[in-house]
Amino acid sequence: MQLRKFGIPFQRITHIFISHLHGDHFFGLPGLLSTMNLLGRNRGVTLYGPAQLKDILTQLFECGGQKLMFKLNFVPTSTDGEQLLFEDKLIEITSFPLKHRIPTTGFRIQEKAKEYRLNPDAIEQDQIPIEFYHRLKKGESPTDKNGKTIDFNRYTLSPKPSFSYSYCSDTAYSEELIPFIKDSTLLYHEATFTEKDKDRARLTFHSTAKEASQIAQAAKVKKLILGHLSSRYSETEAHFSEASEHFKNTFVATDGLKIDLEKI
Ligand SMILES: [Zn+2]
Repeated sequence: MQLRKFGIPFQRITHIFISHLHGDHFFGLPGLLSTMNLLGRNRGVTLYGPAQLKDILTQLFECGGQKLMFKLNFVPTSTDGEQLLFEDKLIEITSFPLKHRIPTTGFRIQEKAKEYRLNPDAIEQDQIPIEFYHRLKKGESPTDKNGKTIDFNRYTLSPKPSFSYSYCSDTAYSEELIPFIKDSTLLYHEATFTEKDKDRARLTFHSTAKEASQIAQAAKVKKLILGHLSSRYSETEAHFSEASEHFKNTFVATDGLKIDLEKI
């Protein structure tokens, strides 16, 4: 419903990541897959999540007599440390364990290091042949036919920064997460409660807004998005002020919120 509301073309979704099997984190998935199917999808979907998810979905579709007309690939996640789930030329996606009542993982989407950018002025000035561009962009200094070294430092500019997004929901406060999310451009961290309900947070393996901001600070992320706020709170101000006291660049998530990582 929310994908539709915000005009997100969900038939373009090809990878779906499920952190754990509490209902508020995956009960929407069978409906989404079913709708994709009814709309005639034939492009496959890869699902990443706890191992039991595959059986749950298989049973649901079998019982309902629905045959998916597209391929559902399944990659089980594990709570044993960091796991590389996906990789292509541009990005890497890893999972890592969170501290919750049932097996739960967070996810990190990391852009790979980018190539050096050619410096057009220096290239033009010294008439560097095009055949060397490829190696210069990789940070290599090739030698021309006269034995002269073409120093990449002179002919390139620093690469554009690589962005990353880490997602941590649901989890109790845990410093063990820090190495996995370190230096993220953007961190989504759950903040189900505020400090006045700290006991409740302990009991349910959730975090307070203050705890989320402490993790953000320790992991040296650039920006923190608080999410998964309990519906017991009628407004978000307490979460925001509690977290921003410790970590300035804090926002409370709202459905449909778009964040430009280049402008953080
Ligand atoms: Zn949960």
